[in-house]
Amino acid sequence: MKGHKDILKDKHGRAHNYLRISLTERCNLRCTYCMPENGVQLTPKGHLMTYEEIYDIARLFVKHGVTKIRLTGGEPLIRKDIPVILEKLASLPVELTMTSNGITIDRFIPDLKNNGINKLNISLDSLDAEKFKEITRRDQFGKVYDNLLLLIKEGFCVKLNVVLIKGFNDNEIIDFIQLTRKLPLTVRFIEFMPFDGNKWDITKMVSYNEVMHRIYETYDKNTVLRIQDAPNDTSKNYHITGYQGTFAIISSVTNPFCDTCNRLRLTANGQLKNCLFSSTESDLLTSYRHGKPIEPIIQKAVQSKFSMRGGMDTLEKLRDPNLHSNNRSMISIGG
Ligand code: SAM
Ligand code: SF4
Repeated sequence: MKGHKDILKDKHGRAHNYLRISLTERCNLRCTYCMPENGVQLTPKGHLMTYEEIYDIARLFVKHGVTKIRLTGGEPLIRKDIPVILEKLASLPVELTMTSNGITIDRFIPDLKNNGINKLNISLDSLDAEKFKEITRRDQFGKVYDNLLLLIKEGFCVKLNVVLIKGFNDNEIIDFIQLTRKLPLTVRFIEFMPFDGNKWDITKMVSYNEVMHRIYETYDKNTVLRIQDAPNDTSKNYHITGYQGTFAIISSVTNPFCDTCNRLRLTANGQLKNCLFSSTESDLLTSYRHGKPIEPIIQKAVQSKFSMRGGMDTLEKLRDPNLHSNNRSMISIGG
């Protein structure tokens, strides 16, 4: 077998040290950009990874060089065994983080703290309760907003994910930036991305350039400071002079960051995806359950990773529904 870390290095020289694990395909919200109107075909429970399987597979990735794990979904906090999953994964030498819609997170603050989780990504696409209800198909704005404030009060380092959709919430860009005036959080505007069943259309996407244009209409350019990106950062980060928080833009569509990609994804049913946009998957769970080694499968999957966006390396390809509909819906990938 090759050296210790080599199986996670792809043929473009990218080392993968960041694993995102989806814990469930279910969710307590129904965001229109994430899940199709009629829901997704759920994997039968027996085909989903148990907490022991999650731990064992994660441990193998850690052995081969993974240093950061993010739990996602679906909504990771709706898994009944979430406390034990956190505890098991926290015993690994990794930075453990989570992306959540925040609805029930107030119930898990001790679990998060006891397991050393202090960085969280929370999703909130509108500061208007009616719009929140429209995009998530659930009337839960108050709960998420209160929990956001609670997390900050409790000392968590919070990034707020905002998917921008033209004509829907792009008039709230400045309101979100205003949040960073008094609150020490990072608001991250995400370009709307195409996945199976989310009725994506490039005209609905608000680009990085458009966001900056809106910001410069309100703020003097000298007060909008660019922050140095961290290695493997997916976002372009900024700070308004005098504000406590920061803001950022994730431009996967107009300005992808694939050349520094260090991420792999494990779906709730144990399929390895080498890219968010990949139309292919590698089944780790079946081999694991048969007692077969899964390293060769991992290595092959990493080796076959395209240089950009699962092979959709131009905007024309990304716009082609025949290509992006070969992928899963976001809710069952784990964003
Ligand atoms: N339920 C959790 C949440 O909403 O934070 C975790 C899973 S969710 C799939 C992870 C992230 O993916 C969220 O921030 C969500 O806004 C983002 N997302 C989902 N669909 C997207 C899309 N079509 N384009 C861009 N981001 C998307
Ligand atoms: Fe659920 Fe998150 Fe998808 Fe919204 S974005 S439906 S909260 S998984």
